[in-house]
Amino acid sequence: MIVVKMGGSDGVNLEAVCADIATLVGAGEQIVLVHGGSHETNLISEKLGVPPRFVTSPSGHASRYTDRQTLEILVMVEAGRINKRIVERLQQSGVNAIGLSGLDGRLLEAKRKETLPIVEHGKRKVLHGEYSGQIERVNISLLRMLLETGYVPVVAPLAISHRHEALNVDGDRVAAAIGSALNAQVVVILSNVPGLLKDPTNEASLISQVPLSQAQEYLERFAQGRMKRKMLGAIDALKSGVKRVMIADGRVEHPLQRALAGWGTVIE
Ligand code: ADP
Repeated sequence: MIVVKMGGSDGVNLEAVCADIATLVGAGEQIVLVHGGSHETNLISEKLGVPPRFVTSPSGHASRYTDRQTLEILVMVEAGRINKRIVERLQQSGVNAIGLSGLDGRLLEAKRKETLPIVEHGKRKVLHGEYSGQIERVNISLLRMLLETGYVPVVAPLAISHRHEALNVDGDRVAAAIGSALNAQVVVILSNVPGLLKDPTNEASLISQVPLSQAQEYLERFAQGRMKRKMLGAIDALKSGVKRVMIADGRVEHPLQRALAGWGTVIE
């Protein structure tokens, strides 16, 4: 059982990822593919005249303010356009992919964060009407049912709240949660960088191994911006039973097979 997360940023080689999935599924492997979509959502939001609003939490983390209108754009772009593009490509590669979001069949249940404390121009404020959440439960039986009947689930990073509202959730955390719930032997996070870099501007500065005991330290020393979430997702997954997380380059030929062969950052 392998859980693969494919980045939403520009550059990840969709054809190559799908070809690798076809090879692995052909060899009898079970795979769940999770994808992102923030980059494309930003572009579409701009075109729709609703530019994304990024805010900073009091602890210094940047995040997207997801009001109801933003949530609907996320649903449209992530669960619609991107999810179906991936399903189409997998079908063309001979893989019987089924696209769904965490909302469908209550695949992912999350606790809604209704308010967002932020710091703006040096002042603390609270934004209301936020639709994002933290994953609390994965509907394992739904995933197992699909996997056992030969489907490859393609999961868009949305969830359902305990009060049945659609929520935005982080794709890297989705991969970690599904990986732990299914006891995956490995979670592979494919992005537009070779892995965790000592210097994010220098691709030659790859850190190839991170022991779990030092993962938090590496996160604080080296990861910036969205790489922090990948490291947090990796730590979550390893603490709850996944044996190995790979953060690897999704832009190359055979991205998945290379990652499984150890190219990238191994956290274990
Ligand atoms: P995805 O869309 O694939 O989830 P993101 O763009 O969210 O990818 O996250 C990967 C980005 O994190 C890289 O493009 C890079 O700019 C940034 N980053 C920050 N710190 C690091 C680091 N130490 N090593 C690698 N990438 C880093």
